[in-house]
Amino acid sequence: MYVESLRGRDIKVYLFGKQIQNPVDHAIIRPSINALKATYDLAIEDPDLATAWSPLINERVNRFLHIVESPEDLVIKNRMQRRLGQITGTCFQRCAGLDTISVLHSITYDIDQKHGTVYHQRYLNFLKQAQQHNLIIGAGMTDPKGDRSKRPSEQSDPDLFLHVIKRTKKGIYIKGAKAHMTGGLNSHWICVMPTMNLSEKDKDYAVVGMIPAHAVGITHIYGRQSCDLRALEEGDIDKGNAKFGGQETLVIFDNVFIPWDHVFMDGETEFAQDMVSRFTSYHRASYVCKTGLGDVIIGAAATIADYNGAEKASHIKDKLVEMTHLNETIYSSGIASSYEAKKLPSGIYKNDEMLANICKHNVTRFPYEISRLAQDLAGGLMVTLPSEQDFKHEITGPLLEKYLQGKASVPVEHRARILRLIENMTLGRNAVGYLTESLHGAGSPQAQRIQITRAMRVEEKKDFAKRIAGIQID
Ligand SMILES: Cc1cc2nc3c(=O)[nH]c(=O)nc-3n(C[C@H](O)[C@H](O)[C@H](O)COP(=O)(O)OP(=O)(O)OC[C@H]3O[C@@H](n4cnc5c(N)ncnc54)[C@H](O)[C@@H]3O)c2cc1C
Ligand code: SF4
Repeated sequence: MYVESLRGRDIKVYLFGKQIQNPVDHAIIRPSINALKATYDLAIEDPDLATAWSPLINERVNRFLHIVESPEDLVIKNRMQRRLGQITGTCFQRCAGLDTISVLHSITYDIDQKHGTVYHQRYLNFLKQAQQHNLIIGAGMTDPKGDRSKRPSEQSDPDLFLHVIKRTKKGIYIKGAKAHMTGGLNSHWICVMPTMNLSEKDKDYAVVGMIPAHAVGITHIYGRQSCDLRALEEGDIDKGNAKFGGQETLVIFDNVFIPWDHVFMDGETEFAQDMVSRFTSYHRASYVCKTGLGDVIIGAAATIADYNGAEKASHIKDKLVEMTHLNETIYSSGIASSYEAKKLPSGIYKNDEMLANICKHNVTRFPYEISRLAQDLAGGLMVTLPSEQDFKHEITGPLLEKYLQGKASVPVEHRARILRLIENMTLGRNAVGYLTESLHGAGSPQAQRIQITRAMRVEEKKDFAKRIAGIQID
């Protein structure tokens, strides 16, 4: 049903210099749709994990649309994210939308309390509809940003940050772009929101609104990924992960209309900073998704060691222990952040900010080290393996079968498949999801260090030390 819901939309998409008429069945795009579909399938296979009771519509809903009612809700969300990482081995694209609806709950409430606006009710009306129809929401936070030393209103081109260009009785018109949007094309709706703190001069940039992904004036330009053309080749071995992939699009908004019912912030610049930091509290803990991918790559590394006949070597076992230690360290900080969640005035719970930032900061590093160890165990064949076509060729095929054998009991094809999977996750298409998304998604490493600096309460810690050392504290 989800896949069908993406068909027949008049959505404007460009890929490799061509407008794509039927993105759903495009060989490069389809794996990303399959990964998102896994979030629907899991809700049927394991409803305790992937659905929750919504008091808003008095029905069970997909957990990706559920309002967080307790720390336990966030913990189950993390377990679900790890499970989906294990199933897909890639980014399944739905968490940024969930974290968007979570942050909007408290932000719309807080703006209404201060300004007497009606954003919260509008938001609840939208959410009811999203829950009823099990919709996907893409998160449009990151602007192209132009010159990083300049604020939105100081840029040479005002459109480098998305902004309101016109207000009418019926709604607003926006112009600009949102970059790196995960699952942009696979979403039903896109939520645009500010990416940084804003001053009074940036009033038109303080806008939050919900827009159909195929609205008039929207153009998606598909982000290409390393080795993406393998999706067009015959066979499935060289693809590494033939079924699942991630997706990012650059989304252009040219004079796009948003009716007032779908506007959740317009000009309240003082809430932009809070919106970003609350969003990142949720989203940086969501990066436990990468521990599911870590489970896949640890499994792949252990399997190739088996196939090579090296599994009993002590250094191999130790490297698998090291990979597991790193992976579980990520998980522990994410899940701790969920257990430590606190209730906000709107009634929703929010992840502990410090621990969420620690989780994401671990994610900016540990998957790289885990990948290095997986490549170590894989051996050089991971990058010198001939193509699937050479395995099928009448002359080269038998030669490859003879000389690329590992353990005699293991088919050479199995060895090739595992090597291609490690290649896919550490150098190929899903290295986007496992590595670079881990580095930059939800903010580059420095963004976490800034938040950690703000939350680390160093003065209090100095006092602990001074008291024990016998130094008088005024
Ligand atoms: C795979 C992937 C998926 C993503 N998904 C989403 C999504 O779904 N929705 C969304 O909204 N965003 C998404 N993002 C965007 C992500 O949040 C940004 O990539 C991140 O915030 C960094 O921004 P940038 O890419 O523009 O890098 P840049 O801002 O260009 O940063 C590059 C480097 O410059 C440094 N830098 C930047 N500005 C300054 C400054 N003023 N002073 C000093 N140093 C600076 C940074 O610390 C970094 O080291 C995604 C990113 C990736 C890679
Ligand atoms: S990177 Fe992880 S948290 Fe973000 S959308 Fe992808 S799977 Fe979800």
